Amino acid sequence: MSKSRDPRTVAAANGVAIDTAFGAVTPPLHLSTTFAFEGFERSRTHDYSRTSNPTRSLLAETLAELEGGAGAVVVASGMAAIDLVFSQLGPDDLAVAPHDCYGGTHRLLSARRDRGHFDVVFVDQNDEQALARAFEKFPSMVLVETPSNPLMRVVDIRSMADRAGKSGAKLVVDNTFLSPALQRPLLLGADYVVHSTTKYLNGHSDVVGGAVVAAARSDAETLAAWANVVGTTGSPFDSYLTLRGLRTLFPRVAQQQETAHAVARYLAGHPLVSAVYYPGLSSHPGHEIARRQQSGFGAMLGFELKGGCGAVHRFVEAVRIFTLAESLGGVESLVAHPATMTHAGMDPEARRTAGITDGLLRLSIGLEAEADLISDLDLALASVEETQVLAQSAL
Ligand SMILES: *Cc1c(COP(=O)(O)O)cnc(C)c1O
Repeated sequence: MSKSRDPRTVAAANGVAIDTAFGAVTPPLHLSTTFAFEGFERSRTHDYSRTSNPTRSLLAETLAELEGGAGAVVVASGMAAIDLVFSQLGPDDLAVAPHDCYGGTHRLLSARRDRGHFDVVFVDQNDEQALARAFEKFPSMVLVETPSNPLMRVVDIRSMADRAGKSGAKLVVDNTFLSPALQRPLLLGADYVVHSTTKYLNGHSDVVGGAVVAAARSDAETLAAWANVVGTTGSPFDSYLTLRGLRTLFPRVAQQQETAHAVARYLAGHPLVSAVYYPGLSSHPGHEIARRQQSGFGAMLGFELKGGCGAVHRFVEAVRIFTLAESLGGVESLVAHPATMTHAGMDPEARRTAGITDGLLRLSIGLEAEADLISDLDLALASVEETQVLAQSAL
């Protein structure tokens, strides 16, 4: 099989019609826990499903090819993927992570630090001085999330890879927000890509899963061995569903980001919105870097609603098509309030430092019609405006 297949072809058709038993066009789901030995001391490719399983292996191979990596490990969740990569660190190692990383990542790395597993510093990776100070301590691993959650801060992956390479650190990029359809960090010099496959890769909000893709085969093998030791490998059924979702990754994301761009432009022009965070807007500080390293701006955006918590409360109860829920990357549009939802576990001080205010909302744009989504937002904003006018006239 040629290494240079277009990723669209890989997503749509990797593993199609390879079944030797019945010629199944869709790769079969192998639920079996265990696999018969061919004979004494003669195991087949797979012997026990925690260690390896044909359905999970096919998903791993597909993800590795999509990201341009040498190998991948499919695990039970995005958190398990991040934990797997960082499990390589010891008490003398330092990790550098973004100050506004995914809330669960912040909690995981802090908990590992508090237990003495390794040290971690959280820095604003757009703050040149803070970053230089962190690199002076010779970190072993650097985590980048770009675009970040929920402010869509963009980090230059290639320059981070150069920097990490010079100081002997491995670079890990959480590519959950864009997926390999829009960004391929390994081709920009990263050592690992991690995914919450729960999001765009599966894309249908019915699986929790994760994956690590490594640039080096030996790293992929080391991580696969450890995932087997700790037993965090993903289930075959989830792998099957994720591969099924992945078939339509490219057209889904293409449509979703087109709608997201239109929503961002609409919000930017609304008087009740004080800021819109979307890398596709030329006003976004990361716009130029995003244009360079991404092949699209994605379908996630953040915006700041005037009127703080009261306005947010009214807004999220007024929307009809957007659902108030955590998660992202599915076919349905969601709205989340980071301060009380995804980032509620972060201490208020760290949250403020990360710029997550009470008026900040995050949208994950799905596949509904653009006009319906914009009119839903329009009606919800009108209802916020109405309550604010009523409150003022009552004074
Ligand atoms: C959701 C998410 C995670 C965690 O993934 P789970 O599958 O929920 O464990 C990690 N990073 C980012 C950017 C995410 O959005």
